[in-house]
Formats: sequence, C-alpha cells, structure tokens
Amino acid sequence: MPNTDRSGRILRVALPSPLRRLFDYLAPDDWPQNALAEGVRIAVPFGNRTLIGVLIEQPEQSELTPEQLKTALELIDHNPILPDSLLKLCRWCADYYHHSLGDTLSNALPALLRQGHATSLAEPHWRCSKALDDQIRLALRRAPKQLQAFERLCEHPKGVSRPLLSSLGISSATLRALEQKQLVVCEHLDEPMPGKGSLLHEAPYPLNEDQRRAVERVDCDLDRFHCHLLQGVTGSGKTEVYLHLIEQVLRQDKQALVLVPEIGLTPQTLQRFRQRFNRPVVAMHSGLNDRERLKAWLDASNGRAGILIGTRSSLFTPLLNPGIIIVDEEHDGSYKQQDGLRYNARDMAIYRAKLEQIPIVLGSATPSLESLHNALQQRYSQLLLPNRAAATLPDFQLLDLRNQPLIAGMTSVLQQQVEQHLQQGNQVLLFLNRRGYAPTLLCHQCGWVADCRLCDSRMTLHRTPPHLHCHHCDSQAQVPFQCPKCNSHELNPVGRGTERSEEELQLRFPRASILRIDRDSTRRKDAMHQLLQQIHRGEPGILLGTQMLAKGHHFPAVTLVAILDVDSGLFSTDFRGLERMGQLLLQVAGRAGRADKQGSVAIQTHNPEHPALLQLIHQGYETFARSLLRERSLLRLPPYTYLALLRSEAAQMQPAQQFLADIRQQASSPGTTEVSLLGPIAAPMERRQGRYRSQLLLQSSSRRALHRLLQQLLPAMETHPLSRKIRWSIDVDPQEML
Ligand code: ADP
Ligand code: ZN
Ligand code: ZN
Repeated sequence: MPNTDRSGRILRVALPSPLRRLFDYLAPDDWPQNALAEGVRIAVPFGNRTLIGVLIEQPEQSELTPEQLKTALELIDHNPILPDSLLKLCRWCADYYHHSLGDTLSNALPALLRQGHATSLAEPHWRCSKALDDQIRLALRRAPKQLQAFERLCEHPKGVSRPLLSSLGISSATLRALEQKQLVVCEHLDEPMPGKGSLLHEAPYPLNEDQRRAVERVDCDLDRFHCHLLQGVTGSGKTEVYLHLIEQVLRQDKQALVLVPEIGLTPQTLQRFRQRFNRPVVAMHSGLNDRERLKAWLDASNGRAGILIGTRSSLFTPLLNPGIIIVDEEHDGSYKQQDGLRYNARDMAIYRAKLEQIPIVLGSATPSLESLHNALQQRYSQLLLPNRAAATLPDFQLLDLRNQPLIAGMTSVLQQQVEQHLQQGNQVLLFLNRRGYAPTLLCHQCGWVADCRLCDSRMTLHRTPPHLHCHHCDSQAQVPFQCPKCNSHELNPVGRGTERSEEELQLRFPRASILRIDRDSTRRKDAMHQLLQQIHRGEPGILLGTQMLAKGHHFPAVTLVAILDVDSGLFSTDFRGLERMGQLLLQVAGRAGRADKQGSVAIQTHNPEHPALLQLIHQGYETFARSLLRERSLLRLPPYTYLALLRSEAAQMQPAQQFLADIRQQASSPGTTEVSLLGPIAAPMERRQGRYRSQLLLQSSSRRALHRLLQQLLPAMETHPLSRKIRWSIDVDPQEML
C-alpha cells in the first residue's frame, strides 16, 4: 500500500551514496508545517549511521509504506544551501554522467558543509527579539529559568556568544525553548561587505585591435548566454581580454567565475587579477584547508567576492550575481575528473552559463578539437588573436636525432645553442616529460627488468632518494644490489628522466646553474615558490622540467626552449595522442621569447619528416587541428561521434570480462542499432594496482541514442550478481582510454 495519509510530510533526499536513487523519509511532526524549501540539508538515519543529505522533492506518495519510512532527524538549514541554478546543474550533471545525484552534490559542496557545518563561519550570537514586557512575563510565568535567561539576555542588546552564555548560566535547552517561542534569535555576524570605491587599482593597457574586437564581440552578449572561443597564440593577451570583460561585469555589480587548470593557478596569475581590481578576488584550489575552502565558497555565494578563480571543482560554487564564466586553457586535461564523478568542468561550465543566462569564454592557444569543431560549425563564436601582444612569436627548428652522438640527450647543435644563449645572459628551458632517474632498471647479464608487482609496467629508478617507484600505482621498492634472477651486479639504468638529465647537464655545462622543476623537486611546501622566485631573478641558467614548467608561466628571461624528445607523443595508442602532442608542444614553445628578446624553439626528433609535426610548426595550430579533424571525421571519432566507456576491474580478469560481456548481451536487443559496441577487451594497461581491467566502448553518432542505451543498461549493471565482486564505472566522453 503506497503511503498517502501523511502527504506533504514525505521528504525525498539525495544522500552521499553511489546508489543512483533518492531516499524517502518522513518529516517529524514538530518541523515547520508549511512545505520545506528544496535544497536544504537534512540529517537522516541510514543503516546504523547518520547521513546528511539534500532535500530534492516532497512527493505526495512514497513506494514505501508508512511503517517502512524512517523519520528524519534534523533540519540543518532554513534556506536552500544551493540556489536553484546549481541544483539544476547538479541534477543535469548526474543525469549526463549517469552518476548518483547524492554523490554529485558531495562533489559540489565543501567538506565542512557536507559534514553539517553552518553556512557561516562567523560565531553565532543570540539576542532577544523583543523587549521584556508584561505579556512575556505572563507567558513565561511557569518557566522561571527561561524568564531569568531572557532578562539576562536583554542586558546585551547586541547579542551574546556561546562562551558568554555559559558564564551567564544559560543552558542550551533553555535557549532552544526561547528560540522556539521566537523570543530569542540566533544571528551570525558576518564580516561586513567590502566598501566599493573605485573599481580599478591600475589603469589597464590600451587594447590592440584584435583584443578590442574580441572584447566588443563578447560585450554585446553580456546579458545572455553565448559561448565564445578565444583562440589566441601564447602571449597574445588573452588574459588582458579576460580582465577587460571582467571589468564590464564588475561595473554591473556582477561576479566572474574563472576556471584555470590544476597547475595553472600560479601566484603570478592571481597577482594579476588582484593588482587590477579593487574588489575581493577569491582563489579556490587543492592547497586550501577545509575552513579556507568554506570561506571562499561563502564569499562567492554571498556576493562578497567579485572574482572567484579556481580549479575544476570551483565550477560548482554558487555566485549571488553571476556575470560571466571564463575557462582558461580550455583544452587542458585537468578539467576532466578521472574518478568518481567523471565530469568535464569545461562542458559543465557551458551548461552552467546557459542556466544562468550569462556568456562564457573558452580561452586557449591550442583549443581542443571539440571546441574548435563547435566554433567552425558556428555554434561558438571564434575570436582570434593571431599575434603576440608585446613580443614576436619564436622561431622553430627541427633537430634530427638519427645517428647523432648525444650528450645529456642533446645533439651537438643543441649543445652549442644552449651555450650561446647562456653566454648572452639568457635562460634556457629544457623540456623532458619524464621524472625520475631512468624509466627502466635492466640486468645486463640476463635481461631482467624491475617490473611493478602490481601493474603491467616498469618501476622508475629514482636517485634522490634512491628507490624504485611505480608511477601508475605509487608503490615503491628498494633498489636491489644485485639482480634477483642471476645475482649479477650489472644493473643498469636505461633511458633518461629529469634526475639523470640534471646530472649529465651539470657535467656538460659545469658553470651553469641548473634548476630542475618536477613533481619530486617541488614536493616540499614552498619549494615551487622558491624555484619560481629564482627563475624570476632572471640570472642565466638552465631550467629543466616536466609539464609543470610548460603551462601558464611567464619567464621573461627564457629565450631558448628545447623539447628533448617529442617522439613518444607522435606514436601514442590513444586517438587523442597527436592532438595532445601538438597542444603540449606549443604550450612549452610558448615559454620562449615572451619579453623583448626574440625566442627560438628547438625540437629533437627521430622523425623529422613526420607530416603532422611539420604542419604544426610551419602552418600553425589551426591548420594542424583541421587535418586532425578531417581524420577524425573519416574514422568516425569524436567530435563526430560520441563515446562512453564502461570499465570493470577485479582481482582476476575473468569476472571483469564476464560482467561486461553480460552487459553487452543486454545491449544487443533491437532499438540499439544506433550504438556500436566494441569489447569487452582488456584495457591498454591490463593490470594496474593488482587488479585486472577490462572495458567496453560504446560509440554513436547520436548522443541521445548513446544516453538512452546507458540508461537502459544501468539496472542490469547495478543488479548484476558479479557487481559485488568487481568494480565498474561509466565514463561519458572519456578522455583517457587507459
Ligand atoms: P596570454 O594570456 O594570451 O598568454 P597575456 O595576457 O599574458 O597573454 O599577455 C602577454 C604579455 O603581453 C603580458 O606581458 C601582457 O602584459 C602583455 N600585453 C597584453 N596585452 C597588451 C597590450 N594591449 N599592450 C601591451 N602589452 C600587452
Ligand atoms: Zn640478471
Ligand atoms: Zn604499479
């Protein structure tokens, strides 16, 4: 029997759980009679735990009988914790990625709010809402404690904080009773809003012609949704365009949300926003503790912050008065979350802009093929900045590695160039996207190599401190003294990572200062900051680094950039390999000659005739990208089709494969012909972290058909008997086929 007798009292709640469903509870009788606002947090019993969920609906009926329905425990908020637009965004996100709404909301909320913290960091204060009069004396005549407490509180018209309450001898029970009678109110005395004053700290640059055109184009769409692709070469002044747009938005008393890649939020970037505007600029990134994160979230949602600048997850932060969204380096891989809720923050940002009816600007020197395709189809407007604003573009040269003697991985031509640039007092940036000493440790006697126990991969040899390290599962081991197979002592490092390069460079250029910048050399707190400071002092030297060094930085003294080995990017098994190679190459190259001195870029390769490489450096990114698009169109790959990847993993391969094979069976019914299925096949890295991995790829030219099929398969996946033995996931628009 469906429950109808207590209609209006049923609460349908999203809970932090992987289950893709909502949960019904009953509202206790003493909760406000009028309907609660959707979006408030509610504590409910769940098994033998208490969970905090978000109220989504108040349905007339429940599938459960009144006896089966449990009663909610506590109402945490009076007002929704997320505005309607954000609730809609989360619902849409959960639907699109076929993910649990409760877990999607958990992604959206700062940890302290998930744990039930008040939506304020200010100390609560209690004060009397009325003056003491005979009516109140009469009402409290049977509650002498409450009357006494009320009298004492009245002596503090500005309110009393918790410590003072206890020294006044007022218990929390008494206080609650007075609150319920609406004689006492609880207030959070938040920081006052900042005074306004003039908007700009410094006068902006006069824009050049291209920048002005871009700004004007967006300006005429400031009051409605439109997506713009700002495609400008490195150093063309994209940031300056953002700043001008944000200025317009702030003048209308609205706020800007700026998304940056994970390692793009440099102190320099933040500084640039803070220097320009006399308004609070709030940063949100992984370095914040829970309290700082909540503070940033509150500042954005109560309108204090003029600008919120942050990485992927700041997308879900409410803004009181949103005016524009900017996604910098929109092609960057860190916008896609690779576990749990596998969302793409760039794509969700576009949907959010649509919900909020505001413009969005995607900026990049090397736009993703998806965004470029949308621009070429005129779904986005394409704003071009083809020249550098304050410098000229660097020259490119390809250096043939074939049959060349190498020192420190460099041909003699490159060594001479490095020497020259150092002698002229400049900095040289060497890019090697592999950390550690050597990617392989090999026994010269018997051919044994140090493999990871848990993955189908090799252990990387590190020297500082000496150990073997798997970069896929993070497991570590001691470096053996002798070969575990043949006891020989001839264990040799093979290949070159940044540690080894550093050592070899020091021998080759004994007087040069060498700064290595990778995940290991910057692990210590503040190490990155110190390295950056040293670079900015501008003294000549060699900067050697991984992609940490490639993105977003402005190093005025760097005149030569060398990419030591571009070949691994040319032959990736992933269909996005070449696209990524092109993007990374131009990002690294973009560090050269950003100030008054001409820059040059040297690219070492065994494939100096590779057509894509030649096209990229001689004809530029857009021509390169257009040929990749033609290839994708021929091969029916994204952006011309849509993909979803079902993954499963288990302690053995068999159940992982079986699970996907069964799911595939389910998909073969009529009506699913619009979607083609590939697999199940072993993942490119078959075993990782001790688990075997399999995948099933779904591909369709119709997004709708793809989602319909996923929707149809979900129940089978959730209830499959093997689903307890294995782990499975859905990845919509997968970025990595690993
Ligand atoms: P991007 O974000 O495209 O890499 P930036 O906005 O950082 O480019 O600009 C690159 C450099 O050019 C910066 O040093 C910036 O101060 C300078 N710059 C940008 N716009 C102008 C302009 N209109 N006039 C002079 N210099 C500019
Ligand atoms: Zn051996
Ligand atoms: Zn491993």
